[in-house]
Formats: sequence, structure tokens, C-alpha cells
Amino acid sequence: MSKGTKIPGYMQGKGRNPRGIIGDREIRYKCSLQNTILDVLRGRPGWQEVPGQQSTGQPPSNTGKAGSGTTTTQGTTFGNKASFQSIPPITRNSDGDWDFYWCDREWLHQNYDTMFLYEHQKILHFRNHYELTRKNLMVKNLKRLKKQTEREQGKAEGLSFEFFPTTYELPSEYHIFVEEFKKNPGIIWIMKPAARAQGRGIFLFRRLKDITDWKKGEYQPLSDPNRDAPETYVVQRYIENPYLIGGRKFDVRVYVLVVSYNPLKVWLYRSGFARFSNTRFSLDSIEDTYVHLTNVAIQKNAPDYDPDKGCKWSTQQLRKYLSAKHGVDAVRKAYKGIDNIIIKSLQSVQKIIINDKHCFEMYGYDILFDSDLKPWLIEINASPSLTASGKEDYELKFGLLNDLLNVLDLENRLTGKEKRIGGWDLLWEDGPILADDGNMECVPNGNTTTIPNSFLGCHNDRKRQLRELYMAAQSVKKT
Ligand code: ADP
Repeated sequence: MSKGTKIPGYMQGKGRNPRGIIGDREIRYKCSLQNTILDVLRGRPGWQEVPGQQSTGQPPSNTGKAGSGTTTTQGTTFGNKASFQSIPPITRNSDGDWDFYWCDREWLHQNYDTMFLYEHQKILHFRNHYELTRKNLMVKNLKRLKKQTEREQGKAEGLSFEFFPTTYELPSEYHIFVEEFKKNPGIIWIMKPAARAQGRGIFLFRRLKDITDWKKGEYQPLSDPNRDAPETYVVQRYIENPYLIGGRKFDVRVYVLVVSYNPLKVWLYRSGFARFSNTRFSLDSIEDTYVHLTNVAIQKNAPDYDPDKGCKWSTQQLRKYLSAKHGVDAVRKAYKGIDNIIIKSLQSVQKIIINDKHCFEMYGYDILFDSDLKPWLIEINASPSLTASGKEDYELKFGLLNDLLNVLDLENRLTGKEKRIGGWDLLWEDGPILADDGNMECVPNGNTTTIPNSFLGCHNDRKRQLRELYMAAQSVKKT
């Protein structure tokens, strides 16, 4: 946001806002990234950047571990104004002088275990987010919860986990994979490095020979003792019948915000986008990544890629298109499948993730529809790209991140009971949330007592909603 950018009315404070534990002073932030999130933070009234890119997060003379949840002499609950005085004076530019830190994952890994956090501090990422975001671990956790569900609730209930393609970790599960491969001759498999992103290192294959050759190169012990340990891959059943629009394959980026794992509290953003491949889909050329991988990072290098046209649709466009083609009910059923994917995947790591009241995570889910409009989980990112590819993309990400800060509400302007904040809808809080706010644009004849509070791809009138929300919260707080 440039200096001259006008601050929208709904974000302007009327007089001095009570800021809970932070009181009336500005909110101090740090940010490791140089993209839309930095613009959002810089444009936010009452927020001030702490100079210097990295911080150790340690206060001048104290140590401790984040996540203990214990109340310290410094810390207390949000919104408790009486305790504001007990916050120690903060020395400018010293370590730990931030209230909010949009850090990168590497920084968190290096610092989390020795980090002390005051009661009010908020930081991006949970300590072991990779349990969900590394491709092999995500599947391992999902398989475990599926088995447990089958054991405790029966096989039928286990069927609700049939949303991730059959997957094996390599090299550890190579032999089980070969057995499975032989049972299904002729099908296509996709190989993916477990911890890489943007389509790097991915290839498709049909013949076992393709993989035995690859395996020789990759995993045979070599005489060189300094050779790095072989990289972990996943081999996954390729979805051969993707839903096509204009003959092209696409996947959908869905934004999910987790503010707590215990209890699990999950928000779903209405807007996102579908990423299309630039080339018509065909199973004849399985080596052509421009046909089969929908990552923007891959597609933008396609020879006939047109940067003006891009290869994205908003989730609103997509939902409209699908509803016109298949009817609102069929689309609602398909989107309910996405809710199920989100909740089951988060539950699969709920007991493993180190829950910490200071941490939050914004995930980017990649969902692929097949030709029956069944959604499949492809992967989950803990650092979805926040770099905008164009004006529309910038507006989406700017609103998304601003609303994320509205949900976290460091300014303490809300009541804490909201079910919708800007474009974020509360999907789950220790159980499903039902819609009752009259926001039923996507639900015909909606019986609001049984409709989940889930509006992916629905109209996102976030600014109007925020205006009304803040007015309502203000009057509740006054009484
Ligand atoms: P990366 O982390 O490198 O982006 P992904 O798992 O997201 O890896 O895969 C990249 C792309 O490959 C996806 O966006 C999707 O288009 C395609 N893809 C991945 N797995 C499958 C699959 N099992 N079936 C069909 N397409 C897939």
C-alpha cells in the first residue's frame, strides 16, 4: 500500500480504541516477508513496524518456553485492562519488543524452543506444522486417524476418509507399493518429493521399470560416504479423471486459519482461486508437466502462457460455473466434501501439533475435483504464496490477510463470539458451527438450523460486513 492510500472507514478508529492488554499504545509487528503481508501490516492503522528483520524473541532478562500456557507476572488474558500495567516497559529495538510476528518457518524452528513469549504476543506457525504440510507425514497422520475411526466407529465411518489418493512413502514403503502396483496394472502414478514445493521434482509414470531405474539412481548405496541421505518421496495414485473446464485441469486453493488446536478452532475464507493448466488435458503425454501440474510456478513457464490472461479463476467464478452446470445442491454436496477434508485433516494432527496459544497458522489447501465433482486433497501448505500475480490476486490476498488480522483482533475491538469476520467464516470450534447469520447467498431455501457455517466461493462483501460487525461489537461492548 502506498503512503497516500486511503484507509477504509471500517478500519479507522473512532477516538482511542481500548486495546486490551496492549492498551492504548501502537501494536508493534515484525515481518520476514516482503510481499502483500508487509503491505497489509504497514497499512494497518495503529500498527508500527519494529525495525530489523529478525528477532530472537527473548525478553531482556527472562527465559522460558512458549506454549506452557502459564500466566506469568507479565502475562495475563486478552482484554483484561486492569492487568495492562503489569506489562514490563518495552525497550525499543531490543529483542522481544514485538506484539505480532509474521515469521518464516526456518526462524521459528531455530528459535521456538528457547523463546519466551508474553501473554499477548502472536506468532505465525505452530512448532511442528510439518506434520500436516510434509506430503508423507500428512498421509501417515490421515491413515492413522482413518484406522482409529474404523476401529472405534466402524468401517462405514472410515469411508469419510476416502479423500486422499492411495499413497506410499519411498523408500520405506517401496515393497508394499510394488504389491499395490501389480494389483492395478496400467494405472498412472505420480512421484513427488515429500518436502519440496512448486511442482519441483515431480514426475508421472505407468511402468514399474520407470521407477526401478529412478530408484537405482536415487537410492542405491554409493561408495561415496559423503553422499547425502536419499530424499524421501511419496508415490501416489494419479487422478486420471480430473474435472475439466474448457478441456483444462485445475485445482483449487482454499485458505484455512487455525487459531487453536486445543480446542480446535478453524476459520474458512470465502475467496480463493482455481489454478488452471495452460494446456488441454490428455493422458497421452504423461511426461508433459504443463498438462498435468497446475502450479502457477510451472504454468508461467509454458511456451504459450499469457501473463495478462493468467490461469486463475476466483472461487466465486468457479462456484457460479459449477452451480449453473450441475445445480446448487450438487455443488453444495461437493463443497461439504471440502469442509470434511479440512476438518478430518486437522483432526488427524490435533493431538500431535504442539498447541500454543501464541501461535496461529494460515494453511493453503490444494483441492482437486474429479469428473464426478468429488474433491480430493492434494496437499496442504503452511506458507501459501502471498505474492500477488496481478491486481485481482493482490486484492484477494490483501483482503484475506487484513481479515486474518481482524480475526486475531489484537486491537480488541470484537466480542470474541463472532461467526463471520470479513471473508472468514468460523467452520469449527470444538465441533461444527451452524450458519445463522442470514448470509445464505449460496443456499437455496436454506434451513439455517442445519447448514454449516461454510461459504467457500460465496459472495464476499467483506467491507460492508466489517462495518456492520464493528458497529454491532461496539454497542455490545458499551452495554
Ligand atoms: P507441490 O508441493 O510441488 O506443488 P503438489 O502435491 O501440490 O506438489 O502437486 C503439484 C500439482 O500436481 C498439483 O497442483 C496437481 O495439479 C498435480 N497433482 C499432484 N498430485 C496429484 C494426483 N494425485 N493426481 C492428479 N494430479 C496431481
